[in-house]
Amino acid sequence: MTNEELKNRDLEVLWHPCTQMKDYEILPLIPIKKAHGVYITDFEGNSYIDSISSWWVNIFGHTNKYINTKIKEQLDTLEHVIIAGFTHKSIIELSERLVKLTPSGLDKCFYADNGSSAVEVALKMSYHYNKNRGKEKSLFVSLQNSYHGETIGALSVGDVELYKDTYKPLLIRAISTPTPFDQTKESAIKAAIEYENLLKERASEISALIIEPLVQGAGYMNMYHPHFITLLSEISKKYDVHLIADEILVGFGRTGTMFACESAEITPDFMLLSKGLTGGYLPLSVCMTTNEIYSAFYCDYEDNKAFLHSHSYTGNALACAAANATIDIFENENIIEKNKVLIDQMQEGLLKFSKLNCVKETRQQGMIAAIELQNFDQGERIGVKIYQEALKYGVYIRPLGHVVYFMPPYVISKDELQKVIDVTFDAVVKVLETR
Ligand SMILES: *Cc1c(COP(=O)(O)O)cnc(C)c1O
Repeated sequence: MTNEELKNRDLEVLWHPCTQMKDYEILPLIPIKKAHGVYITDFEGNSYIDSISSWWVNIFGHTNKYINTKIKEQLDTLEHVIIAGFTHKSIIELSERLVKLTPSGLDKCFYADNGSSAVEVALKMSYHYNKNRGKEKSLFVSLQNSYHGETIGALSVGDVELYKDTYKPLLIRAISTPTPFDQTKESAIKAAIEYENLLKERASEISALIIEPLVQGAGYMNMYHPHFITLLSEISKKYDVHLIADEILVGFGRTGTMFACESAEITPDFMLLSKGLTGGYLPLSVCMTTNEIYSAFYCDYEDNKAFLHSHSYTGNALACAAANATIDIFENENIIEKNKVLIDQMQEGLLKFSKLNCVKETRQQGMIAAIELQNFDQGERIGVKIYQEALKYGVYIRPLGHVVYFMPPYVISKDELQKVIDVTFDAVVKVLETR
């Protein structure tokens, strides 16, 4: 089988996500045969370093030996069982561990099977909690430039025009409040004041504020100071508005600590996890919340107080086994500490980018490094050109518009990371700097 043959068969029957399909006329689709560690390999034997962790999910490499073994063990014991009326050992263990690992006060785990669904769960739970207390609060607040997924509720609290504009007539009620557009404490304080002004006027309608702590991923890797989270948490409490921390991207060590909320020393009312949760193996997500919120739903079967939300694959046993294996690796191999070496190397790598004329700014938060480009024509697809150029040298990067970023699996070696940095640098220079 060749790349060409599979590509043609694919295009007869598949419709790919987040893609203008006509692009495949000029940008060849790459059929992947196998993957191991940070490498993904196509049907002609070309290998690429997966420097964006296959859309931010993979943290311990592809076909990781330990995770594979744990999934295989689970596979031969229990693959899946309905999770209403039944339970299983892997999901209990996982929940106990998540309660221990996450900021104190998050004591209950409600599972779904992808990030957007976890967002939907949190929005509904927050709204329903208020209803159970006799309050009608149907408005949500999110940050400018935020991204929380693609289902209708999640899209409503997002603010990336490219994904949202078309569907505006379909969305639920949500408004946005300013985001700090740099990493200084001053910007954080300024934006928080605007949030408080909003709550002063409209808190009685507002159920929750949803944020991406520290890094707005799909929002072009915008990063802000942890103090912003602290302030948002304080203000939300003061006005009786829930804080939903969407850690779907940043959770599990991405920003340098296990969870981004740790950097602000807060406990949100809801914390959402997915992506890294299963090490990038299987779809699973969880909405964690407090016993206080849980208690508002707990009663005899009456008045529509129970949270009657479900997904067919909720709490899938294979996914839970992958998640437990992922947490094992964090615990056994001291990953958060070890990542510091890679974080320093990325920081150093960014330095040489910051000297280029075509670079507006570089920024970093833990294991995420971003390079914002300038001096190109509107409508010019520089991201695509940089992607193609880097691919020739065995590095897979997927720029976000005018932002190039690295978000590698934590198992990347120093040499591999250096290759990612150098190849990307050369690609940026070739596409933008020296023309
Ligand atoms: C990816 C992402 C989501 C959506 O998760 P899906 O599994 O793609 O639905 C939500 N929030 C954030 C911050 C994300 O990065």
